[in-house]
Amino acid sequence: MSYKICPVCQTKNEPNAVICSNCMTDISTIEPQEENNLILKLMHDNFTLSLDKDETIGRKAFGSKYLTNEHISRNHAKIIFENGSVYIEDLNSTNGTFINDSQIKPKKKYKLREADTIKLSSYVKLKVNIQRATPNER
Ligand SMILES: [Zn+2]
Repeated sequence: MSYKICPVCQTKNEPNAVICSNCMTDISTIEPQEENNLILKLMHDNFTLSLDKDETIGRKAFGSKYLTNEHISRNHAKIIFENGSVYIEDLNSTNGTFINDSQIKPKKKYKLREADTIKLSSYVKLKVNIQRATPNER
């Protein structure tokens, strides 16, 4: 399944739509994208964060109930679902984001793979688990 997202109102439209069904914006030049059917689980020894759409994670963002370590920034990193893959982008966090012990550059997307380890600062370690959502059709 693919769809076109209206840049004005974010409505999902049919992949061959030329006008947004909600706000009538011309979407004839928008590229259709694949439906995201992934679930990302970030597993810590004491908790698991489950995401199925783009979220900013951090001390004052998604996961704030668990991401309380003082070395984590308020808006630490962003998780991005795009074309059937999951990416992480560090949002200029104070103590950095690491994939498998390599610090990633801020403001740049890095693809996450099954069994990667993410660290938010040097202190909070999360194991990456990527699952396909159960399809609705049989
Ligand atoms: Zn629209």
